[in-house]
Amino acid sequence: MIVVKVGGASGINYDSVLEDLSNYKDVVLVHGGSDELNKISSKLGKPPTIVTSASGYVSRRTDKETLEIFNMVYCGKMNKMIVEKLQKLGVNAIGLSGIDGKLLVGKRKNIVIVEGGKKKVIRDDYTGKVDEVNVDLLKILLNNNYLPVITPPALSFENESINVDGDRASAVIASSLKADALIILSNIPGLLMDVNDETSLIKEINKENSKEAMTFAQGRMKKKVMGAFEAIDNGVNKVIFGDARIDRPITKALEGQGTVIH
Ligand code: ADP
Repeated sequence: MIVVKVGGASGINYDSVLEDLSNYKDVVLVHGGSDELNKISSKLGKPPTIVTSASGYVSRRTDKETLEIFNMVYCGKMNKMIVEKLQKLGVNAIGLSGIDGKLLVGKRKNIVIVEGGKKKVIRDDYTGKVDEVNVDLLKILLNNNYLPVITPPALSFENESINVDGDRASAVIASSLKADALIILSNIPGLLMDVNDETSLIKEINKENSKEAMTFAQGRMKKKVMGAFEAIDNGVNKVIFGDARIDRPITKALEGQGTVIH
């Protein structure tokens, strides 16, 4: 069993990812949509606001209106685009957000940001993290040859939609399913020592150098690295950061191309 996460950054080649994916059985796909969301929310007159938490992690400010646009783009445009492409490839894909069938449930949290040197709590934010996965639902689908295509949002314990990080969600899904591998594909060859130099690829990371790996990751990459170690800590054999711009990206990642974390 493998879990594949394909991001939403610009440059991702969904056709090559999905064509490669169609050759695998027993697989779950998790996807993002950040670039598309940025474009569409800007067109709708609600450009994205990125906030940095007190602990240094960046996330999208998700008020109620942003959440509605988020759902339109992630559950609508992106999810159905991916499901349609898989159907064309002969794969019986089924699109689900985390709120469907309580697939992904977790805690909604207030974000704490630092503004002018002072800590400020934002209370009307709909973000959180995934704590529980409805594994039974995924097993029913997988046992009947459906390929689940999963997107945020998740469902809070109070039954609200919450924006959750797709990379960390894929890590919880992979560990809940006891997956052999989690492949995280984005518009980069893997974790780079220098984000502006694609030849600075880090080929391998293990537990001993996890702290060092974290120092290279900037911006949203931090949550990918965090998610990777969460998956490893919770029993996933290996996590691979692979390139979603190339041909056969999943096969190449499984062959060791990219950054392998174990
Ligand atoms: P996705 O939406 O595909 O999941 P993100 O935009 O969240 O992708 O994360 C990928 C981005 O992280 C890259 O495009 C890159 O600009 C950035 N990044 C920051 N630090 C690093 C790093 N050390 N190595 C690789 N990418 C990095």
